[in-house]
Amino acid sequence: MAKRKIKTKHPQKHRANKSKIHRKPKAKVFVVNVKKLFGIEEAVKYLLDLSGDKGIEVFKYLITHGEMEENLLAKRMKFNRANAIRKYLYKLYNKNLVSYIRVRKGSKAWYTYYWKANPERLVFLLKGIYEEEIKQAKKSIELNKTADFYVCEVCNRRYSLNEALENDFRCSNCGGNLQHLENALFISDKENRIKFLNKKIANLDKLVREK
Ligand SMILES: [Zn+2]
Repeated sequence: MAKRKIKTKHPQKHRANKSKIHRKPKAKVFVVNVKKLFGIEEAVKYLLDLSGDKGIEVFKYLITHGEMEENLLAKRMKFNRANAIRKYLYKLYNKNLVSYIRVRKGSKAWYTYYWKANPERLVFLLKGIYEEEIKQAKKSIELNKTADFYVCEVCNRRYSLNEALENDFRCSNCGGNLQHLENALFISDKENRIKFLNKKIANLDKLVREK
Protein backbone atom coordinates (compact mmCIF):
# COMPACT_ATOMS: atom_id res chain seq x y z
CA MET A 1 0.00 0.00 0.00
CA ALA A 2 2.70 2.45 1.03
CA LYS A 3 4.74 1.55 -2.01
CA ARG A 4 1.90 2.35 -4.38
CA LYS A 5 1.38 5.73 -2.77
CA ILE A 6 4.97 6.75 -3.41
CA LYS A 7 4.75 5.61 -7.01
CA THR A 8 1.69 7.71 -7.80
CA LYS A 9 2.94 10.78 -5.96
CA HIS A 10 6.36 10.93 -7.48
CA PRO A 11 5.60 11.88 -11.13
CA GLN A 12 3.36 14.76 -10.02
CA LYS A 13 6.04 16.14 -7.78
CA HIS A 14 8.54 15.93 -10.59
CA ARG A 15 6.32 17.84 -13.01
CA ALA A 16 5.63 20.60 -10.50
CA ASN A 17 9.32 21.19 -9.96
CA LYS A 18 10.05 21.34 -13.63
CA SER A 19 7.40 23.92 -14.49
CA LYS A 20 8.39 26.16 -11.54
CA ILE A 21 4.80 27.35 -11.29
CA HIS A 22 3.42 27.39 -7.77
CA ARG A 23 -0.30 27.32 -7.96
CA LYS A 24 -3.05 26.28 -5.61
CA PRO A 25 -5.14 23.23 -6.54
CA LYS A 26 -7.30 23.96 -9.55
CA ALA A 27 -10.32 25.95 -8.39
CA LYS A 28 -13.88 25.88 -9.72
CA VAL A 29 -14.63 28.46 -12.39
CA PHE A 30 -17.58 30.77 -11.84
CA VAL A 31 -19.48 33.15 -14.07
CA VAL A 32 -20.66 36.24 -12.17
CA ASN A 33 -23.09 38.97 -13.18
CA VAL A 34 -20.70 41.71 -12.11
CA LYS A 35 -22.89 44.59 -13.22
CA LYS A 36 -25.72 43.48 -10.94
CA LEU A 37 -23.29 42.62 -8.16
CA PHE A 38 -21.91 46.17 -8.12
CA GLY A 39 -25.49 47.45 -8.11
CA ILE A 40 -25.89 45.98 -4.61
CA GLU A 41 -25.20 48.67 -2.05
CA GLU A 42 -23.83 46.21 0.54
CA ALA A 43 -21.39 44.76 -1.98
CA VAL A 44 -19.87 48.16 -2.69
CA LYS A 45 -19.82 49.05 1.00
CA TYR A 46 -18.07 45.80 1.85
CA LEU A 47 -15.30 46.52 -0.65
CA LEU A 48 -15.06 50.13 0.43
CA ASP A 49 -14.62 49.17 4.10
CA LEU A 50 -12.07 46.53 3.17
CA SER A 51 -9.87 48.33 0.67
CA GLY A 52 -11.15 51.86 0.02
CA ASP A 53 -11.89 53.55 -3.32
CA LYS A 54 -8.54 52.49 -4.78
CA GLY A 55 -9.10 48.90 -3.78
CA ILE A 56 -12.45 48.86 -5.59
CA GLU A 57 -10.75 50.31 -8.69
CA VAL A 58 -8.09 47.59 -8.63
CA PHE A 59 -10.71 44.88 -8.11
CA LYS A 60 -12.87 46.19 -10.97
CA TYR A 61 -9.88 46.55 -13.27
CA LEU A 62 -8.86 42.95 -12.72
CA ILE A 63 -12.44 41.78 -13.29
CA THR A 64 -12.60 43.66 -16.60
CA HIS A 65 -9.13 42.84 -17.88
CA GLY A 66 -8.56 39.37 -16.48
CA GLU A 67 -5.35 37.95 -15.06
CA MET A 68 -2.52 40.46 -15.23
CA GLU A 69 1.13 40.69 -14.33
CA GLU A 70 1.69 42.89 -11.27
CA ASN A 71 4.00 45.52 -12.77
CA LEU A 72 1.85 45.88 -15.83
CA LEU A 73 -1.24 46.24 -13.63
CA ALA A 74 0.49 48.94 -11.56
CA LYS A 75 1.54 50.78 -14.71
CA ARG A 76 -1.89 50.57 -16.35
CA MET A 77 -3.54 51.83 -13.17
CA LYS A 78 -1.02 54.66 -12.89
CA PHE A 79 0.58 53.53 -9.64
CA ASN A 80 4.19 54.69 -9.61
CA ARG A 81 5.50 51.38 -8.24
CA ALA A 82 4.27 47.80 -7.91
CA ASN A 83 4.70 48.27 -4.14
CA ALA A 84 2.03 50.94 -4.12
CA ILE A 85 -0.60 48.70 -5.64
CA ARG A 86 0.34 45.70 -3.49
CA LYS A 87 -1.19 47.35 -0.43
CA TYR A 88 -4.61 47.14 -2.07
CA LEU A 89 -4.04 43.72 -3.58
CA TYR A 90 -3.15 42.26 -0.18
CA LYS A 91 -6.25 43.72 1.45
CA LEU A 92 -8.39 42.07 -1.22
CA TYR A 93 -6.28 38.92 -1.03
CA ASN A 94 -7.00 38.60 2.72
CA LYS A 95 -10.61 37.86 1.80
CA ASN A 96 -9.66 35.83 -1.28
CA LEU A 97 -11.25 38.46 -3.52
CA VAL A 98 -8.09 38.36 -5.61
CA SER A 99 -5.54 35.59 -5.98
CA TYR A 100 -2.18 35.23 -7.62
CA ILE A 101 0.16 32.79 -9.19
CA ARG A 102 3.89 33.38 -9.14
CA VAL A 103 6.21 32.29 -11.88
CA ARG A 104 9.97 32.19 -11.90
CA LYS A 105 11.18 33.10 -15.34
CA GLY A 106 14.40 31.55 -16.61
CA SER A 107 17.29 31.81 -14.19
CA LYS A 108 16.03 34.95 -12.48
CA ALA A 109 16.08 34.83 -8.70
CA TRP A 110 12.75 36.60 -8.27
CA TYR A 111 9.18 35.71 -9.03
CA THR A 112 6.77 37.40 -11.37
CA TYR A 113 3.26 37.73 -9.90
CA TYR A 114 0.06 37.39 -11.89
CA TRP A 115 -3.12 38.59 -10.20
CA LYS A 116 -6.74 37.86 -10.93
CA ALA A 117 -10.07 38.84 -9.37
CA ASN A 118 -12.53 36.37 -7.85
CA PRO A 119 -15.84 38.29 -7.92
CA GLU A 120 -17.77 35.16 -6.88
CA ARG A 121 -16.04 35.46 -3.50
CA LEU A 122 -17.82 38.77 -2.92
CA VAL A 123 -21.15 37.00 -3.47
CA PHE A 124 -20.16 34.25 -1.01
CA LEU A 125 -18.92 36.76 1.57
CA LEU A 126 -22.19 38.70 1.46
CA LYS A 127 -24.17 35.49 1.71
CA GLY A 128 -22.11 34.56 4.75
CA ILE A 129 -22.96 37.86 6.44
CA TYR A 130 -26.69 37.41 5.78
CA GLU A 131 -26.60 33.80 6.92
CA GLU A 132 -24.91 34.80 10.16
CA GLU A 133 -27.56 37.45 10.81
CA ILE A 134 -30.31 34.86 10.17
CA LYS A 135 -28.65 32.50 12.63
CA GLN A 136 -28.56 35.21 15.30
CA ALA A 137 -32.16 36.22 14.61
CA LYS A 138 -33.32 32.62 14.99
CA LYS A 139 -31.47 32.31 18.30
CA SER A 140 -33.01 35.53 19.48
CA ILE A 141 -36.51 34.33 18.52
CA GLU A 142 -35.99 31.07 20.44
CA LEU A 143 -34.79 32.96 23.50
CA ASN A 144 -37.79 35.28 23.45
CA LYS A 145 -40.27 32.47 22.90
CA THR A 146 -39.08 30.51 25.91
CA ALA A 147 -38.26 33.29 28.34
CA ASP A 148 -40.72 35.41 30.24
CA PHE A 149 -39.41 38.96 30.55
CA TYR A 150 -40.46 42.07 32.39
CA VAL A 151 -39.27 45.53 31.51
CA CYS A 152 -39.11 48.79 33.50
CA GLU A 153 -41.48 51.44 32.16
CA VAL A 154 -39.00 54.17 33.05
CA CYS A 155 -35.46 52.96 32.33
CA ASN A 156 -36.21 49.90 30.13
CA ARG A 157 -34.11 47.55 32.25
CA ARG A 158 -35.07 43.92 31.69
CA TYR A 159 -35.94 41.39 34.38
CA SER A 160 -36.74 37.69 34.38
CA LEU A 161 -40.04 36.58 35.94
CA ASN A 162 -38.18 35.46 39.12
CA GLU A 163 -36.39 38.79 39.45
CA ALA A 164 -39.64 40.67 38.91
CA LEU A 165 -41.35 38.57 41.62
CA GLU A 166 -38.49 39.15 44.06
CA ASN A 167 -38.65 42.90 43.52
CA ASP A 168 -42.43 42.97 43.79
CA PHE A 169 -42.64 44.14 40.15
CA ARG A 170 -40.60 47.26 40.88
CA CYS A 171 -37.39 48.24 39.11
CA SER A 172 -34.38 47.84 41.42
CA ASN A 173 -32.64 50.53 39.41
CA CYS A 174 -35.17 53.37 39.47
CA GLY A 175 -38.24 52.06 41.29
CA GLY A 176 -40.40 52.19 38.16
CA ASN A 177 -43.22 49.75 37.43
CA LEU A 178 -42.32 46.51 35.65
CA GLN A 179 -44.45 45.62 32.65
CA HIS A 180 -44.70 42.23 31.01
CA LEU A 181 -42.69 42.40 27.81
CA GLU A 182 -44.74 41.80 24.71
CA ASN A 183 -42.64 39.40 22.65
CA ALA A 184 -45.01 38.85 19.74
CA LEU A 185 -44.07 42.06 17.97
CA PHE A 186 -40.38 41.50 18.53
CA ILE A 187 -40.63 37.97 17.15
CA SER A 188 -42.62 38.95 14.06
CA ASP A 189 -40.08 41.72 13.38
CA LYS A 190 -37.29 39.18 13.50
CA GLU A 191 -39.22 36.75 11.32
CA ASN A 192 -39.77 39.47 8.71
CA ARG A 193 -36.08 40.30 8.79
CA ILE A 194 -35.25 36.62 8.19
CA LYS A 195 -37.62 36.51 5.20
CA PHE A 196 -36.01 39.66 3.82
CA LEU A 197 -32.50 38.24 4.23
CA ASN A 198 -33.49 34.95 2.61
CA LYS A 199 -34.73 36.90 -0.41
CA LYS A 200 -31.39 38.69 -0.58
CA ILE A 201 -29.58 35.37 -0.48
CA ALA A 202 -31.79 34.01 -3.27
CA ASN A 203 -31.00 37.08 -5.38
CA LEU A 204 -27.29 36.66 -4.74
CA ASP A 205 -27.52 33.03 -5.84
CA LYS A 206 -28.87 34.21 -9.19
CA LEU A 207 -25.73 36.28 -9.79
CA VAL A 208 -23.31 33.40 -9.87
CA ARG A 209 -23.18 30.07 -11.61
CA GLU A 210 -20.53 27.44 -12.01
CA LYS A 211 -18.97 27.20 -15.46
ZN1 LIG B 1 -36.15 51.31 36.01
